[in-house]
Amino acid sequence: MSDTVLRFAPSPTGGFHVGNARTAIFNYLYAQHYGARLLLRVEDTDRERSTEDALKTILDGLSWLGVAFEGDPVFQSQNGDAHRAAVAQLLESGHAYYAYETPEELKEMQKKAQSEGRRVQYNRNLTSEQQAAYEAEGLPKVVRFKIPEGETTWDDLIRGVQRWDNREIEDFVIQRADGSPVYHLAVVVDDHDMSVTLVMRGADHLSNTPKQILLFRALLWDVPGYAHSTLILGSDGKKQSKRHGATTVIEYKEQGYLPETMFNFLALLGWAPGGGREVFTREELVEAFSIEGLLKKDAIFDQKKLEWLNGEHLRAKPVSELAEEAFEIWKARGWITDGDVENRREELTRIVGLFQDRVRTVQDFDGAGYFFQEPKEYDAKVHKKHWKADTPERMQMLIDRLRPLEAFSESEVEGVVRSLAGELGLSASKLIHPTRLALSGVGFGPGVFELMEALGQETCLRRLQKGLEVLGQNA
Ligand code: GLU
Repeated sequence: MSDTVLRFAPSPTGGFHVGNARTAIFNYLYAQHYGARLLLRVEDTDRERSTEDALKTILDGLSWLGVAFEGDPVFQSQNGDAHRAAVAQLLESGHAYYAYETPEELKEMQKKAQSEGRRVQYNRNLTSEQQAAYEAEGLPKVVRFKIPEGETTWDDLIRGVQRWDNREIEDFVIQRADGSPVYHLAVVVDDHDMSVTLVMRGADHLSNTPKQILLFRALLWDVPGYAHSTLILGSDGKKQSKRHGATTVIEYKEQGYLPETMFNFLALLGWAPGGGREVFTREELVEAFSIEGLLKKDAIFDQKKLEWLNGEHLRAKPVSELAEEAFEIWKARGWITDGDVENRREELTRIVGLFQDRVRTVQDFDGAGYFFQEPKEYDAKVHKKHWKADTPERMQMLIDRLRPLEAFSESEVEGVVRSLAGELGLSASKLIHPTRLALSGVGFGPGVFELMEALGQETCLRRLQKGLEVLGQNA
């Protein structure tokens, strides 16, 4: 066990982005591997942008991925007393001050600072008379943090020593005019209250860290360690965004990616376990994790690799588990009912097994419709390519030989097809392609003999006959 306390601190203000999910996963891997504690804090102080829906999406996404936390989530909005107390302490100790500038004045000051190439200098040293006059006027006031001289450094667990010249940091607001705390203040107070010792988060927070460290110091609190992971880039090397496709966890779930795939894939975005291995279970990732393995180099979100990895995880899954996912899709399509799942589980699971080697996403089980209903249409390209002038005659011969079969098993059926092909001096594929088309309407899928056994004799004969009528003589 280690004494480290980590936290994942999402803001419930939008979708659950894959970058945030990756941060949660790194925290989880660290906690599991090193025996540290991992807490969840919901950063909901932005009352206008925080929504119940967004919170639900995050919590659902985390549990779908299997990222678990110790205890109940902490809600930042409920720690207001501690936030106000910290502001009072900073005012008291002279690390913060009231500022009364109006928006117009602020704009002026910013313009001036820009033209002189320096940061904005706020009025830190109001005399008590001036302050009393502003108070008498009833001017709104914020609280600003007084950035000290010097340099702020920390030894980032991923990026090594980071240095920030404090001259680059403005006296930022820690409490708004309405008394509400600003992000940096709330984060620092809550990290302290939750005894957080290691903050692991995305690279987008790098520039926040010196501000937060300065607050910790001014409050005379221990500064936690920091580890900032890399950015996630799209395949074109630009920061990942909507342009590159799905960006939220729920979108990937809806597209048929397994939680174990997403966990595996995101864990490898910015972390290299070494040895070139790519496919890991959650437990194997926990075992292999090391903080030293976290990379400084930005990670590329490779959609092709994600698809491939999903196929690997789909194949590795016990068919009975995969079946549950497929059944959901088939039920949603109206192809099967809960009753079917109960009564025909074995038969239905067998169909899932026929697809297991071929699917790349769970959504591909959508392609199994022909197990439950007659094909309504036939793929025109396959028709053109494989249904020739002499096909109908051959198919008729095949039907005639399949009809009297007593055991309609995969091997029996295969025997019939191959011997007929042999007698006609054809390659078996000349019979197999048209058969598949007539049975399924498409040109790919499970092995055709397995397919025939699964569909059964009656269905096969009916569909082959119908195929003959509909597909007819291809011109
Ligand atoms: N709430 C912040 C976010 O969602 C994270 C704050 C932090 O990790 O310090 O980006």
